[in-house]
Amino acid sequence: MADLQAFKRDTRAWLEEHCPPGARGPGQVHTGSRKIPLSHPDLQVWLDRMAEKGWTTPTWAPEYGGAGLSPVEYVALLEEMKAIGARPPLINRGTQMVGPTILEFGNEEQKRRILPMIARGEGAWCQGYSEPGAGSDLASLRTTAVEDGDRYLINGQKIWTSDGHTSEWMFILVRTDPDAPKHDGISFFILSMDQPGVDPRPIQLINGGSHFCETFFDNAVADKRDLIGELNKGWTVGKRLLQHERSGMEMLVSGGTGKRQTGVVDVARAYCGDDAGGINSLWRDQVASYEMNAHALKLTQRRVVEESTDGQTPGPATSIMKVVSTDLEKIQTELIASLRGSNGYGWEGDGFTQGELDSTRRFLSARAASIYSGSNEIQRNIIAKRVLGLPD
Ligand SMILES: Cc1cc2nc3c(=O)[nH]c(=O)nc-3n(C[C@H](O)[C@H](O)[C@H](O)COP(=O)(O)OP(=O)(O)OC[C@H]3O[C@@H](n4cnc5c(N)ncnc54)[C@H](O)[C@@H]3O)c2cc1C
Repeated sequence: MADLQAFKRDTRAWLEEHCPPGARGPGQVHTGSRKIPLSHPDLQVWLDRMAEKGWTTPTWAPEYGGAGLSPVEYVALLEEMKAIGARPPLINRGTQMVGPTILEFGNEEQKRRILPMIARGEGAWCQGYSEPGAGSDLASLRTTAVEDGDRYLINGQKIWTSDGHTSEWMFILVRTDPDAPKHDGISFFILSMDQPGVDPRPIQLINGGSHFCETFFDNAVADKRDLIGELNKGWTVGKRLLQHERSGMEMLVSGGTGKRQTGVVDVARAYCGDDAGGINSLWRDQVASYEMNAHALKLTQRRVVEESTDGQTPGPATSIMKVVSTDLEKIQTELIASLRGSNGYGWEGDGFTQGELDSTRRFLSARAASIYSGSNEIQRNIIAKRVLGLPD
């Protein structure tokens, strides 16, 4: 305990000295992408300093770009970052999804080559899983990879590739044995997005924005050395990555505040306050219920991190976290919109504040959370079968 107190003290002092002003408080977080402009040069300074310290991936071993922190020290670091308002130096699918997967399934050469690059934030990552006709039934995927000397040539199409056009790297599931049963002929590769054979085309959304792509592959190249895990055994690797994605550990990484940053209580006080400075009794129960459930989820996630002796994400139980956190996100955004009354659903116009317009967008985008990373119906199937052991 004394050691932990000393660690916290040293950490606070280091953070105070090294976290520049432009990386504190709410705002943009570096994704590693060189294609997204940074709102402030301090974001790069912060990323570089934290990477140098091994604190962009604190629990990874130093030889892989981390700092070898124990889970308890890791949580302490997050608490100290939160205390001084430091933003996470880097959040992307490299640190949160493919990195932990390579730690588990990669060979030593891959770990020493790819993980430090991820930890330094050299490029953002996108996920090449879904295809037209292969979403919930992901194992039906048809994009192929065919051996060609010391490389594989990839042909086919992915869809809903979030950040495909702003990423430098992709991890992808491809079919390498078309004759095997569908779960058996799949392999997991990483590849560069910056090559002629890869064409990520942004999908225009109804709101004018575009954060995901349909991605076409025409003899795209993946190096043989970038096959993660065994050939034709990629289903196991790909499923494990989804568990990292669904665990919600990124909420902890984002300072432990997760999606609660918009502040249900603050909105309730501002829009539905009572004369005593509290919250109108009509709303109190709903606000308290949300706050308690959100806090319980945060504590559960924190306990999972602290209890995992090897820093590993749990298995199928991550589906529970995914369902609970995405349901809570919907409740939170609906509650905030309702608390704001007719100002809670504005799309544009002078009659709305920026906060109101932002919360409308969050309310709408929360609908997607129960679909991506495997829909919540599919998560309930996994919970029934793999956690509760119910029959098919
Ligand atoms: C915002 C967003 C970002 C995404 N980003 C990415 C990304 O970066 N990379 C990527 O590869 N994919 C991404 N996806 C795709 C996502 O993984 C799929 O949308 C999801 O897996 C569902 O597949 P589908 O859309 O084909 O729906 P379908 O599989 O066609 O499902 C349609 C409906 O049927 C239900 N359903 C299907 N099968 C069953 C069953 N067996 N039991 C019960 N219900 C069932 C589903 O729950 C769903 O409600 C993203 C999706 C969204 C919304």
